[in-house]
Amino acid sequence: MPLTITPETARFQQDVKLGRVLVVEDEELIRETIALALTEEGYEVFTAEDGRKGLEFLSSRTGESSHGEAVVFDLIILDLMLPYVNGLDLCRLIRHEGDSVPILMLSAKGTETDRVVGLEVGADDYLTKPFGMRELIARCRALLRRHRRSQLQTQESTLRFHEIVLYPQECRVTIRGEEVNLSPKEFRILELFMSHPRRVWSREQLIERIWGPTLWETAKRSMFTFAGCAKS
Ligand code: CA
Repeated sequence: MPLTITPETARFQQDVKLGRVLVVEDEELIRETIALALTEEGYEVFTAEDGRKGLEFLSSRTGESSHGEAVVFDLIILDLMLPYVNGLDLCRLIRHEGDSVPILMLSAKGTETDRVVGLEVGADDYLTKPFGMRELIARCRALLRRHRRSQLQTQESTLRFHEIVLYPQECRVTIRGEEVNLSPKEFRILELFMSHPRRVWSREQLIERIWGPTLWETAKRSMFTFAGCAKS
């Protein structure tokens, strides 16, 4: 399998081993060395030699392409200084789309400011050149492990009732896949009901659990509003 693959061929490579990694790096020697090291470790590796090619990969995996399956990466290794679109802007774009894929930023600059800026735009880790392949692989493993643990926790904590799905960590609710706007109190009431699907609650118990014992009057007004909405 060639180490340098176009976005078109990447869509058809679904045989994931340890995970799919996109390496966006303009220095050929570094790019190919990283790709070789990760391939030998059992990862499926895709490479892009500049920011524009990196964007093509990211666009193809978001399903914007009219044909083929979307490519989903488990990890992105992103050089800071890239032709056309730099690593910081790519990182911002990925996070702007709400994608939480782990990003390891590479840079020849080792200053604290560069490291902080990289992390502030959404990178999960930062490695300064020159670095050894063993360190790079250790960082990749750690990032993937942390991300998978976090995904698992999110899946485990997700509450479902028929077509209602509640995501406690993200404070959001969907019905048939559509986002529903709830106030914080409404969210907590729904979370309480969905956490105890067979339990019957008295009004006093609900108020105490959601508002606390000192907010009776406010709570009762809000409860009536919520009950009214629920009936309509
Ligand atoms: Ca560079």
